[in-house]
Amino acid sequence: MSTLASIPDPITPGASKFGSTFVRTFRECPFKWWLTFWAPHPSSPNALGLVNPVLGKPLAIGQFTHIGLAEYHLDGCRITTGAEAIFQALRDYEGPMMEDQGEVENESLFLLTQYDSFWAGDHPEIVYVDGHPVVERNLVVTMGYRDYTYTARLDALVNWRGHNCVFEHKTVDTGRFGSLVASAPIDIQIVGQKFLAHHLLPDLKVDRILLNCLIKRRAAGKDPCAREDIYIPDPIIEKFRLDITRTLAQIDEATVLWKELGEAGMEPYEAGRQAFSQHGSKDCSWCQFKEICLDPTHANRYANIFLPRASSGGSTRTTNGGANNE
Ligand code: SF4
Repeated sequence: MSTLASIPDPITPGASKFGSTFVRTFRECPFKWWLTFWAPHPSSPNALGLVNPVLGKPLAIGQFTHIGLAEYHLDGCRITTGAEAIFQALRDYEGPMMEDQGEVENESLFLLTQYDSFWAGDHPEIVYVDGHPVVERNLVVTMGYRDYTYTARLDALVNWRGHNCVFEHKTVDTGRFGSLVASAPIDIQIVGQKFLAHHLLPDLKVDRILLNCLIKRRAAGKDPCAREDIYIPDPIIEKFRLDITRTLAQIDEATVLWKELGEAGMEPYEAGRQAFSQHGSKDCSWCQFKEICLDPTHANRYANIFLPRASSGGSTRTTNGGANNE
């Protein structure tokens, strides 16, 4: 029997939680993973420019549109409720400086309005469990490997045209919809949503992802919304778990080697380069670490950031083999 108690919110503390970005980053490039999840010193997260102190417009639009959509659905698809939620969230916002707040507000409201007319008369119904709507929930599932737990935020669980689906909102640029749909059945983040729903709410038989795309920066004459109902067969779930645990084992192995190299006296940054191989690829052009990665002399300027780790031989940020919260 599915119960709301089985989908804890907030995320339960204790075990090593990770999400799709954690695994995807390591697969792209282990060194990028190390720089992203391990190397930044907790007391100076901006020292390498690793954390962008500005909330970029694309991210902000996604964030506030999600807030509007959640409240819109919770109030029976009322556009005024969704819009007010966006206004309120913008008023309450206290995070890093937001890039172009005016446009974030306009675009979030515009996308909400477009969403409302696109889905009119064909809205998915929110699924309730124990009388509570499954909307904007943090879900956690143990992986069966050490104490790692996989976590992700579920936008909503819905019933659409007779099927229970994970409802996944994406704010994307024109042209990305096609590639998103094509890669969805193997995309870690999307399959991960099905994995969570499958394990936490087995009685509901959630076998689909309903992809809702809200398209920013539309080409002239292009539709601002698109949707796709993607079937994810159950056997993919176990394959997903095995693939993920294989990557987690590689992360653990590299982390152990990094610690051993440090304990043997190697400078921490160099140990990171040796233990976490660099997979240079076309993705390098998008990598925020390109400058320090490809020019070690540049990295040396920041070497002191890594020193406390070497002297203590461990980390204060992780609970198990390099896993870290996303
Ligand atoms: S620049 Fe390329 S090789 Fe270096 S960390 Fe980034 S992805 Fe890896």
